Amino acid sequence: MSENTTPRNHRAPDVSGLRPRTRLVHGGTRRSGFDETCEALYQTSGFVYGSAEEAESAFANDGQRHVYSRFRNPTSGMFEDRLAEYEGAEWAYATASGMAAVFASLFSHLKAGDRIVAPWGLFISCLYCIKDIAPRFGIIPVLIDGTDMAQWEEALSQPTAAVFLETPSNPCLDIVDLPAVAKLAKAAGAKVIVDNAFATPVLQRPFEMGADVVVYSATKHIDGQGRCLGGAILTDRKFATEVVHPFLRHTGPTISPFNAWLLLKGMETLELRVAAQTESALRIAQFLESHPKVERSLYPFLTSHPQHDLARRQMTGGGTMVSFWVKGGKAEAFRTMNSLRVGLISNNLGDSKTLVTHPATSTHSKLSDEDKRKAGITPNMIRLSVGLEDSQDLIDDLEQALATV
Ligand SMILES: *Cc1c(COP(=O)(O)O)cnc(C)c1O
Repeated sequence: MSENTTPRNHRAPDVSGLRPRTRLVHGGTRRSGFDETCEALYQTSGFVYGSAEEAESAFANDGQRHVYSRFRNPTSGMFEDRLAEYEGAEWAYATASGMAAVFASLFSHLKAGDRIVAPWGLFISCLYCIKDIAPRFGIIPVLIDGTDMAQWEEALSQPTAAVFLETPSNPCLDIVDLPAVAKLAKAAGAKVIVDNAFATPVLQRPFEMGADVVVYSATKHIDGQGRCLGGAILTDRKFATEVVHPFLRHTGPTISPFNAWLLLKGMETLELRVAAQTESALRIAQFLESHPKVERSLYPFLTSHPQHDLARRQMTGGGTMVSFWVKGGKAEAFRTMNSLRVGLISNNLGDSKTLVTHPATSTHSKLSDEDKRKAGITPNMIRLSVGLEDSQDLIDDLEQALATV
């Protein structure tokens, strides 16, 4: 057989050396004997064996063969492999929601007496896991201002088990100096866990800056079309095999194969969507910044962002999220939101549809006034998740809504 007639392995395409956008389309694919174009949906809980001996050997050679979808499922596995391969991680596991991934990233290894250091600037449920659940198990939370390196130094001057952070944070878009914090964390013996939901794997690569674990709410940009919940946890093979995977397979926060299939298909357009949404977000942030009814517009790639230089160092784009403060209070913020025609009122984010949120009365309403102040959430703040609409329509929409204030 001459070289060009050697059949290629179309059932497990080799994506090595190909560029990221190509890997988002083909990475992780495992075709069945039917040679389908689109990845198959294996909607099954279990698997069968031709003989008792086969079953015995499947359990003896753990991981060689699918045995139960709580451990591994072929469709979920394609999503996990595609994401791991894009992120440059050795291992990934898909979970039923982002919070299931966050919870496992902490509680798979923390034990009584351990310290966990995290910024106040966290998504409310992440904060709840650290501030309220962890102490019930004797784990000691240390909450700091994540933008202040002196506070990181102080908090990490003693042995610590874990650092958990979001950068940019939800909803105040704080940027944490990832390489600097990772260095301090290593010295303190801490695992660095990064919730990369806001930046997305397209705009920020935490593993290259010292992260040990990366978690996603795949509900957000990875699905990006408001269809399902999902999450993912990524780490190195050793930590996964010894700690994270045993915890996951025995506690069961597993994703359904159908949702994993949606996320797998979402990955194909992830770069294109995030790039378009990021381009619009910058334009909108600039528009809001110069608007007379707006007190402040916050976006990591605006020079007015207090950590603009840091954001440019560790991200390749400012992201799809803009926060802004309308002049006035809650009434003015509500009037703006209620007057939008295109932007929808929702607490979700990362969708193809533009969504506006009032964090003080929705996502962060359960925080005490003191904790809201620490997290930087005021009654005139609006969080904007920029979608895939024409950016001029979004600007026109904001213009007419602000005119009603
Ligand atoms: C939404 C979100 C989560 C939680 O994800 P779910 O999929 O809703 O469970 C965690 N972290 C951040 C930063 C988020 O925005």
